[in-house]
Amino acid sequence: MRRAIEAHDLHKRYGDVHAVRGVDLTVAPGEVLCLLGPNGAGKTTLVELLEGHRLPSAGSVSLLGRDPARGERALRDRVGVVLQGTFLQDELTVVELLEMHARWYDRPRPPDELLELVELDAARDARARDLSGGQRRRLDLALGLAGRPDVLFLDEPTTGFDPHARRQAWRTIQALRGEGLTVLLTTHMLDEAQALADRVAVLAHGEIVAEGPPELLGGRHERPAEIRFALPDGLGPADVPTPPGATLVRDGDGVLVTAPDGVAAAHRLTGWALERDVPLAGFRVAQPTLEDVYLSLTEAHA
Ligand code: ATP
Repeated sequence: MRRAIEAHDLHKRYGDVHAVRGVDLTVAPGEVLCLLGPNGAGKTTLVELLEGHRLPSAGSVSLLGRDPARGERALRDRVGVVLQGTFLQDELTVVELLEMHARWYDRPRPPDELLELVELDAARDARARDLSGGQRRRLDLALGLAGRPDVLFLDEPTTGFDPHARRQAWRTIQALRGEGLTVLLTTHMLDEAQALADRVAVLAHGEIVAEGPPELLGGRHERPAEIRFALPDGLGPADVPTPPGATLVRDGDGVLVTAPDGVAAAHRLTGWALERDVPLAGFRVAQPTLEDVYLSLTEAHA
């Protein structure tokens, strides 16, 4: 199969609200696709259409080659869904819940393997109601993986996590990708998309406005570099040579140089500074981050 998830000209209307407007989307087997978009962009609606939990107003969806809206058992066993705040019988222990879920599937992943995968071994005998928020999300993830799915839908998997817990969750998702799992991830955290996604799709007003690997999204790699530094007392921006093709402006107490070729511009500026023994305090060269590109893309469509 060439596509794990495929949507063609997908639309969803809620009365007057046209929440998803002509989305074409494909996710290859083993790919991690991250769906980004501002609040109200239509992400939840799109994901629910792809999962088969909502019916499109127009267009088609194929999930592992089948129509997800038909609710076939064969498909259900191959698709994991991890939502925000799943309802659980929370008087049961973690291992009891995993054992119970394992019984629903034809080829379950053993509870011990799941506990190791999500790094929840230490809480195996804790009751679900006594788990911390982060442990509870890990349990949700383990339950989503209980049927050994081929496709996993992950909704904001690390919201509310502390930095260690986030890294731990990222390790789990990266390990799953290593096993060939297809993942459709929604998040509001751009560093998470950068760390996990093979490809990012940005949704704004129900349309996909940009799509590509995180490092190439929106022509990010071709955007100018920004060089910042501070000058010692007695020197101002007018004293600094402007590298060819660059612009140079005052930026607070320092200088901002925007240059199409960051390496050449940095070379020119540092060469000038070394020749004259001028310290360039806080000198740094930055390419636009995924967040910069995301904000400019979504603001352009606001
Ligand atoms: P968020 O990031 O805030 O979760 P989202 O990108 O997931 O937002 P959706 O929840 O899909 O966006 O909502 C898209 C639009 O559709 C919004 O205008 C929302 O108000 C509307 N909408 C969503 N669900 C329904 C519904 N059941 N009935 C009517 N309108 C809805």
